[in-house]
Amino acid sequence: MRAFAPCLLVGLVFWTAPVAVLPLPASVERFPNELGSIMILEYHRIAEPDGRWTRSPAHLREDLERLWDAGYRSIALDTLITGTIDFPSGTSPVVLTFDDSSPGQFRYLERDGRLEIDPDCAVGILEAFARLHPGFGLNATFFVLPAAAEPNRLFGQPGHELRKLQYLVSRGFELGNHTLWHADLAKYPEAVVRAQLAGAQQRIEQIVPGYRLRALALPMGHYPAKLDWAIRGRAAGVSYQHDAILMVGGGSAPSPFSRRFDPYHLPRIQAVGSAVADWLHYFDQHAAQRFVSDGDPETVAVPEGRRGEVRPRPGQVLQVIEAD
Ligand SMILES: [Zn+2]
Repeated sequence: MRAFAPCLLVGLVFWTAPVAVLPLPASVERFPNELGSIMILEYHRIAEPDGRWTRSPAHLREDLERLWDAGYRSIALDTLITGTIDFPSGTSPVVLTFDDSSPGQFRYLERDGRLEIDPDCAVGILEAFARLHPGFGLNATFFVLPAAAEPNRLFGQPGHELRKLQYLVSRGFELGNHTLWHADLAKYPEAVVRAQLAGAQQRIEQIVPGYRLRALALPMGHYPAKLDWAIRGRAAGVSYQHDAILMVGGGSAPSPFSRRFDPYHLPRIQAVGSAVADWLHYFDQHAAQRFVSDGDPETVAVPEGRRGEVRPRPGQVLQVIEAD
């Protein structure tokens, strides 16, 4: 499937002045479009049976297989925020997020006196999938609750909280802020909002020294009365600073290269039911809306006529793909 008519001209642009004309690589099956949108998938419980907030292990595996087959590769949320996507030409990024630190996301089993990761928990599934499909990458963000009631307090195995968070970070997974105990930030005054966000930062930092929570997923998708309270602040001597704020729904997210990209209002897709299959089908039907990498992290490839939609960044090279 091709996103555009056969490509004829590729102008390499340093903001406004074309400096070169390059042919597209012959191997490209999908035309690059780094202004296309990106799915940030949102999972909650990983358990049987499927439900409104639950994805079964089998269906999580199926989602990953579908994404892989359709040319998607995982990226860290941080990579999305910074726009440092470095993918083979023709592939598309997807961001995986897991909210609420429930046991099915990360569970240890004890076998013969040894701890092993449950192959049916999200971490076990993601690691097994990445081993079988190394190109998919091992990337996900876990928006954890350090002071929630069980079973949502840091994955619900009290003796393993420290081990789990340190393991996740050592494997390159990201931890995100989801408040101390899933506080509805719309309901509280400034001091409580800040105490929730700084408190979560403090607790995680105690477990993983020096770790900064770079993103906040809003419990229930509710913003506090003032956006700035959620972005940065300080409480009880602890500072927090979020580079991104994620919502609970809203569909696919604008490209980080787009002027429409707003890191403090990032929409997500709830990965339940047939949502992943439906969205993959949608991008098949609306190929021009899908983010497709050009294989060159130094350039931003955009279809002709859309260069004005690109958000300027210092030193960024713009590659404009001109169709017939
Ligand atoms: Zn939540």
